[in-house]
Amino acid sequence: MRLYNTLTRQVEEVVPVEPGRVKIYACGPTVYRYVHLGNLRTFMLTDLIRRTLEFEGYDVTEVQNITDVGHMTDESSPEAVDKMVLAVEDEGLQPLEIAEKYTREALDDMAAVGIRLPDVMPRATDHIPEMIDLTATLIERGHAYVVESGSVYYDVTSFPGYGKLSGNTLDKLRAGHRDLETDPAKRHPADFALWKSAGPGRLMKWPSPWGEGFPGWHIECSAMSMKYLGDRFDIHTGGNDLKFPHHEDEIAQSEGGVGHEVVSTWVHGGFLRLTGQKIAKSTGNVVRAAELVEHGLDPLAFRWLTFQTRYRSEMDFTWEVMETADKRVKQLRRHVKEWGEPSDAQGAAAKDFDARFREALANDLDMPSAVRAVNDLDHSGEVTPGEKRALLTAWDHVLGLDLEREARAGWVPTEEMRRLVAERDAARQTKDYARSDELRDELQEMDLEVMDTAQGTRVRPQD
Ligand SMILES: [Zn+2]
Repeated sequence: MRLYNTLTRQVEEVVPVEPGRVKIYACGPTVYRYVHLGNLRTFMLTDLIRRTLEFEGYDVTEVQNITDVGHMTDESSPEAVDKMVLAVEDEGLQPLEIAEKYTREALDDMAAVGIRLPDVMPRATDHIPEMIDLTATLIERGHAYVVESGSVYYDVTSFPGYGKLSGNTLDKLRAGHRDLETDPAKRHPADFALWKSAGPGRLMKWPSPWGEGFPGWHIECSAMSMKYLGDRFDIHTGGNDLKFPHHEDEIAQSEGGVGHEVVSTWVHGGFLRLTGQKIAKSTGNVVRAAELVEHGLDPLAFRWLTFQTRYRSEMDFTWEVMETADKRVKQLRRHVKEWGEPSDAQGAAAKDFDARFREALANDLDMPSAVRAVNDLDHSGEVTPGEKRALLTAWDHVLGLDLEREARAGWVPTEEMRRLVAERDAARQTKDYARSDELRDELQEMDLEVMDTAQGTRVRPQD
């Protein structure tokens, strides 16, 4: 598989550090508010990379964090307000309750659009000791300094590679330093907080060698990625907006901490615009996956919609294009059913289609070409119905459109059942066993047999 590497600014073959196994880290949801379709498009990019690599025969280990502390409205400002604190004020809940609620919602929305849950989803608040350790290492190695207030800043001038990912090198940042609010205690305007001393009234704070405080936003991803994937891993993903400062600072921290390159390939996804406007959490101008269902649309069809655009480009979301995608996915499911039994044999034309589809995926996830392969196959007179069925069923491992839904003989779970199953898998993912048991009971009350399998929860009618 070839991917565009933001770091080298070219499309490169993915060559894993450990042969046969690809290790991926994805920046995950910040859980003080709902995730929207723009977030889901970014998370789907990671999932698509993983599905494609698995389709090619690799084992994949995927880690995606949950940010439940430290994400500031303005990371560089000393008066920065923690968004979690704002949510606490708005909703009258404690920080951990807010985090719990929005983590559950985020996992549900991810499952609704067919994102397979990562292998590990570490929470920032469970990894404060790792962040303190890395901060201490950075001080020891001369990359960070403690100021009088008890905050710890990264010294960007100590890391010659600063700016290599985003192009925001120090000379450019100094020139534009009016945009970077400056704490007088900082040595360089671009220095960023690894640890912040807790002011009065601060709800979430922890003891540290530098006094009570809380971690900066960027340090969690350095600490948790290296904890779960080691100090050399293959792919790091995130939205375009995370290139700077978040990922630039992560590189400075991780490489400063271990003394060598940590991530081989950086992949960034483009924005989703809502009827011409950028979807940003701060404007309230957002659409959630749950709203697709309210509009009578299948959330999996959102995948098909995103496939029409290359992942690095911005895409527009309108209800009209979403409805068209929904119709097309339902039509494909009907065709899969009409084609009848899949055939084992594959003729030359079918082989060509398969090669075309696989090459599109391998070519930096060229999903518009993959979509054309699907559409041309659907209309092709040279491929038998049985071959079409077999190909689409195989390709659906990557497409994730549940194309067999209509064709599956007999019983099919309702939307409600599917939702509860997804919610239970999400609860198990975060080891919330009390919630998982509750959901099992709920499913059983619907006269279902509930089975735990390697692929997650499966249900069928009780005999
Ligand atoms: Zn991150």
